Amino acid sequence: MELFITKLLGIEDQNIKIDNLFDAGTHKEILAHLDYDAPPCPACKGQMAKYDFQKPSKIPYLETAGYKTLIRLKKRRFRCKGCRKMAVAETSLVQ
Ligand SMILES: [Zn+2]
Repeated sequence: MELFITKLLGIEDQNIKIDNLFDAGTHKEILAHLDYDAPPCPACKGQMAKYDFQKPSKIPYLETAGYKTLIRLKKRRFRCKGCRKMAVAETSLVQ
């Protein structure tokens, strides 16, 4: 099911996982999250650890079979174990 939805929408980022999908009447909404292993810290190159998720950001997406689609995407936050700086997961889906 999840694979079908991501394929249908042309989402190529494997780090985006669909949590839920529902019909809001005028449009479809997809709840999803973006998560992957903690990258090196952009500031000090130290080890980062998974932290929490950001509040979902609304991403207007393409029309699927005449329906507008809105993705509510929660992005993983990471925190550096060294300098405590925070970073947010990135995806090619949103700039
Ligand atoms: Zn750091």
